[in-house]
Amino acid sequence: MRMQQYTQTASRSEDRSGEKTLLWRCGLCGELGSINAVPASCPGCGTGGENIEYVIED
Ligand SMILES: [Zn+2]
Repeated sequence: MRMQQYTQTASRSEDRSGEKTLLWRCGLCGELGSINAVPASCPGCGTGGENIEYVIED
């Protein structure tokens, strides 16, 4: 019984950590976007992917 409750609590806290958002960010102009749609070049300033870095926001 206690074990089941612990598991439910644990999975709920995993959901909370899922609120952190993984993003790409342009190192030149600071444009941000979802990691699910990383552009080949920055839509803000047009720089290539070599200036695009990854960030985690929470
Ligand atoms: Zn840019």
